[in-house]
Amino acid sequence: MQGKMMHRPLSIMDILKFARDTHGDAEIVSATVEGDIHRQTYRETYTRVCRLGQVLQGLGLGLGDRIATMAWNGYRHFELYYAISGIGAVCHTLNPRLSPDQLIYITHHADDKVLFLDLTFVPIVEALVDKLPKGMRFVVMTDAAHMPDSALDLLCYEDLMDAADKEIVWPELDENTASSLCYTSGTTGNPKGALYSHRSTVLHAMMGGISFQNSLRCGARILPVVPLFHVNAWGLPYGAPMTGASIVFPGPKLDGASIWELMENEAVSSAWGVPTVWLGLLAEIQAKGRRPHNFNEVIIGGSAAPRSMIAQFEDLGTNVCHAWGMTEMSPIGTQGNLDAPLSNLPLEDRLDLKMRQGRRIFGVDLKIVDDQGTALPHDGKSTGELFVRGNAIISGYFENPEASAAAIDGEGWFGTGDVAAISPDGFLQITDRAKDLIKSGGEWISSIDVENMAMAHPSVANCAVIAIAHPKWDERPLLVVVPADADSFDPAPVLDHLRRDLAKYQMPDDVVTIDALPLTATGKVSKMTLRERFADYVLPDLRT
Ligand code: ADP
Repeated sequence: MQGKMMHRPLSIMDILKFARDTHGDAEIVSATVEGDIHRQTYRETYTRVCRLGQVLQGLGLGLGDRIATMAWNGYRHFELYYAISGIGAVCHTLNPRLSPDQLIYITHHADDKVLFLDLTFVPIVEALVDKLPKGMRFVVMTDAAHMPDSALDLLCYEDLMDAADKEIVWPELDENTASSLCYTSGTTGNPKGALYSHRSTVLHAMMGGISFQNSLRCGARILPVVPLFHVNAWGLPYGAPMTGASIVFPGPKLDGASIWELMENEAVSSAWGVPTVWLGLLAEIQAKGRRPHNFNEVIIGGSAAPRSMIAQFEDLGTNVCHAWGMTEMSPIGTQGNLDAPLSNLPLEDRLDLKMRQGRRIFGVDLKIVDDQGTALPHDGKSTGELFVRGNAIISGYFENPEASAAAIDGEGWFGTGDVAAISPDGFLQITDRAKDLIKSGGEWISSIDVENMAMAHPSVANCAVIAIAHPKWDERPLLVVVPADADSFDPAPVLDHLRRDLAKYQMPDDVVTIDALPLTATGKVSKMTLRERFADYVLPDLRT
């Protein structure tokens, strides 16, 4: 027997209409590219989004068209998220840090019709214009006073807005209509597109809302340092208006000092981003002698949060929630908040738990499997490839049948490429990305484990562990360190410190120093670049 309930399509625009009606005075604050602080309420934002919908339709755009953005975190980018999906088109966020070749590949693969760009990125587009899709139009996200001189035929966002009507009848969309498109950074091969729908996006926002209640709530002020071009800023542009939280967008300045000032001035209660960003903020907190006054929670994800980083935040009284996910999952899969009685454990035990990636959020199923695809027990010891299933997880890649077939197993689960263990009480522990594990004499060494321990030594500001080829052992670990003080750095105490916890085979064979670790387009440490840089490195026992 079927239930007898209404069926209303899940719609992204309904999130903003809800925010307009219920949390109309909550704000979107933006540190802009032009240099000022801009404020508008959700109520005002909805009116502007209606105008923008008219603008897009006036440009001839509609159902299924891909519309690209290349922009920082700011209110105009937020408006585009809603107006593009609202007319039934697809918001394709481009990561400006990608290489020119990748940008050219992606814009052609997506067949983008129009590109909305911040002032910062005009030179990138000028350099690429001959290789971008034919007929592509460009709209600069600024007002007439700031329009740049350019050989490109540029439209001005605010001029288009001024000329548009503020009344619009949004089309009734099927909830499975595509809404946004995000390519993975493509550390191997060409980038692959995750094509989200209205349904998956609304469900993901609801899943995030119930899973991050310390952060996402009415009256909260959220700082997404994670860019709007990195998996839809982890869903915050949807989760914040849905829960009535205000958003503080940081614009282009992401250094520790700028973030600190903005958090202090705007009373940010919760900040979200990858670990590399928090290294900068923690250095600034140390220099200033205090944290920004309202800073209650930090969400760390995208790569493993080191124990030392978690300890520093907790010491400041800022709750750390360690989260894991990926582009293909919209992206959130797990969150690491501790409820009672775990929240009452002694600090060291809590740190042990918080270093793990947390427990699955509602709507995400997890399984780990061995090389034959057999499910492994959740005993905290067995490690295998992590597979996931849920309504906000891709069923395949955009226009890429080959990659799609390889991604999904026979039972409909998506293979993450991460290696993990799951404890009986549900805590996920990512051992490594399969490609970053170090295979030494038939044993696997987790680069994350070794990095975590090295980071706890005061002379190590940042570090990464990579595999170096070895004729006898296959691979051996090399520890690459950014020293806290390059002049006085001595590897011996770091190795002594590691020896206390690591088995002999897990110990790095050598330590090298580097000024800064190379980062991927999403701000994570690029192990691929490091592996290339040290491809010819000869380990000490092989030197003649
Ligand atoms: P890319 O890094 O290629 O841009 P994603 O942003 O989707 O792609 O990254 C997803 C991957 O990042 C995961 O598969 C996992 O390897 C890693 N990751 C994300 N969060 C964490 C975390 N908290 N701890 C360890 N690894 C993480």
